[in-house]
Amino acid sequence: MRDVGRIGVLALQGDVREHLRILGEVGATAVTVRRPEELAAVDGLVLPGGESTTIVKLARTFDLLGPLRERIEGGLPVYGSCAGMILLADRVDSGGSPIEETFGGIDITVRRNAFGRQVDSFEEDLDIDGIDGEPLRAVFIRAPWVQEVGPSAEAIGHVATGEHAGRIVAVRQGGLLATSFHPELTGDGRIHAYFCDMVRTADR
Ligand code: GLN
Repeated sequence: MRDVGRIGVLALQGDVREHLRILGEVGATAVTVRRPEELAAVDGLVLPGGESTTIVKLARTFDLLGPLRERIEGGLPVYGSCAGMILLADRVDSGGSPIEETFGGIDITVRRNAFGRQVDSFEEDLDIDGIDGEPLRAVFIRAPWVQEVGPSAEAIGHVATGEHAGRIVAVRQGGLLATSFHPELTGDGRIHAYFCDMVRTADR
């Protein structure tokens, strides 16, 4: 199998360091991306958890919004966790907390902060299509859920139990992957390894 290449982590705000660390653990060369030249030099990109509204604002300030959209449209493999999922969504549910705009790319509608105040943060064991082995421990922190999946995208993970059972929390569309939860916080590298395989097999 060919080399995974360079994977960038958008480093404007959020838990950048955790993604860099786990990408390194699964064998990728991980670099921070803050400038258009840095974006141009990566083979895949991770959008970290954080605050999606802040990340969009900073992307605009750093002249990254246009280049990010162009690279996503051009087929750059991108993985978004939590706020990163919101950034990859084509649509944001108006019933959730509003956000002016996203980067877009995945044919989904997300609802921000969807799980409500009482369960701002919780953990669940999940099965994700395409990830083998024991269930994945998923950490949700003021997480979005996927309200609606359009015909181009595919739901690959759902909440298994409790009040929110059945809610879609992981999606894939071609080279784009998004999870409501934060695999970078658990030390389980399977989601990042899965993304690295997507990068390896993408057209470059
Ligand atoms: N609530 C945040 C947002 O809407 C996402 C939280 C997270 O990334 N942990 O952007």
